[in-house]
Amino acid sequence: MVDPLFLHRLLHPADTPSDPSPAGEQPAAETQPLDGTQAATKQRVSVFREAHFNAAHRLHRPDWSPERNEAVFGLCNNPNWHGHNYKLIVRVTGTIDPETGYVIDLKVLKDIIAEQVTDRYDHKNLNEDLPEFAQLNPTAENIAVMAWQRLRKGLDAAGHSGLGLHLRLYETPRNFVEYPAAK
Ligand SMILES: [Zn+2]
Repeated sequence: MVDPLFLHRLLHPADTPSDPSPAGEQPAAETQPLDGTQAATKQRVSVFREAHFNAAHRLHRPDWSPERNEAVFGLCNNPNWHGHNYKLIVRVTGTIDPETGYVIDLKVLKDIIAEQVTDRYDHKNLNEDLPEFAQLNPTAENIAVMAWQRLRKGLDAAGHSGLGLHLRLYETPRNFVEYPAAK
């Protein structure tokens, strides 16, 4: 066993032996005093906005037999459609703007989500009303990728091309997907 105090002195020769802070506990930037814009604005922060839309869909492949469609897609293969109450959680990541203190103005993000996703999808038949799902099954996976592409376009158009974007889409409280996927 290496004596922890010996290791601490080795790593921090300037510290006094009575220094109570353990070695390597925090990133160096966070140990600086947070005076004004100096340390805080260098930090990357994620901000989140939750949105909802209700939509109908049907998961179906016309090139498959009715039996195979029902076996693979189950209730979501119902010929006369059905709906889900979708919940979308949008995560935007970037550094804090030193002037506003925001990563992104959440009102701006709210408007982009409405324009690009929820106003288009809410109370719609995804298969019939949305061109992106004319040939693409509107699974939660495919909806998440399509929504991400539209939100990315909206963020870029608003001058936020430098911000990271990640989505979590709930089709039911227990079934949800994330895009981009975790590595
Ligand atoms: Zn369904």
